[in-house]
Amino acid sequence: MKKEFVVIGLGRFGGSIVNELIELDASVMAIDKSQERVDEFAQIATQAVAADTTDESSLRSLGIRNFEHVVVAIGENIQASILTTLILKELGVQMITVKAQNDYHEKVLRKIGADHVIHPERDMGRRIANRMVSNDILDYLELSDEYSIVEIRANEKLSGATLIDLDIRAKYGVNIVAIKREDHILVSPQAIEEIRLNDVLIVIGSDVDIHRFEKKVL
Ligand code: ADP
Repeated sequence: MKKEFVVIGLGRFGGSIVNELIELDASVMAIDKSQERVDEFAQIATQAVAADTTDESSLRSLGIRNFEHVVVAIGENIQASILTTLILKELGVQMITVKAQNDYHEKVLRKIGADHVIHPERDMGRRIANRMVSNDILDYLELSDEYSIVEIRANEKLSGATLIDLDIRAKYGVNIVAIKREDHILVSPQAIEEIRLNDVLIVIGSDVDIHRFEKKVL
């Protein structure tokens, strides 16, 4: 059985979700109020429908309740995004993911019961800024307001040391969950594993602890 999704709003973001879901062999009903956008996705999505999703009766007639997961990717029109989410919630959709335009929008979406609120521009901005300020941070993934995962390239200071030597969990409160070395990855490395120059350490912890670790060892 294919997983069945609905994507509402076929702008750049929603459109890319549809494309990716189809690539991943899911079944997707793509909805937009613009017939032009719908035509664009007619050959791509499993089903492409023109509808204004702020109209409860049209959502109801599409049988939206029967889908596992609905993504609301209405961009600019915050009012339409909120109203659509509210109706989906009232119709009893089990999983609703909504793209937020700003922090106020996000707050309202959470209040009315959106299961996931995503903020792609803000998150990508943060991610890129974090990569830009430090030459040693290769990538950064925010887990919550407080916790992140970062990729750090091992320098001379770290190379040759084992995880026991570094004792970073006790000293800094962070964990090395994996080490990328050349073309392979060591997941949950052993405590006796010796770090080599240019290894990429995948570190998880609170932002405060990660910063302390970075300052001390990089
Ligand atoms: P992005 O920033 O992802 O490109 P856009 O704001 O350009 O987002 O696109 C959002 C899409 O959502 C547009 O194609 C627009 O027609 C669609 N849309 C806006 N309001 C509604 C609505 N009430 N019902 C259905 N689709 C809508």
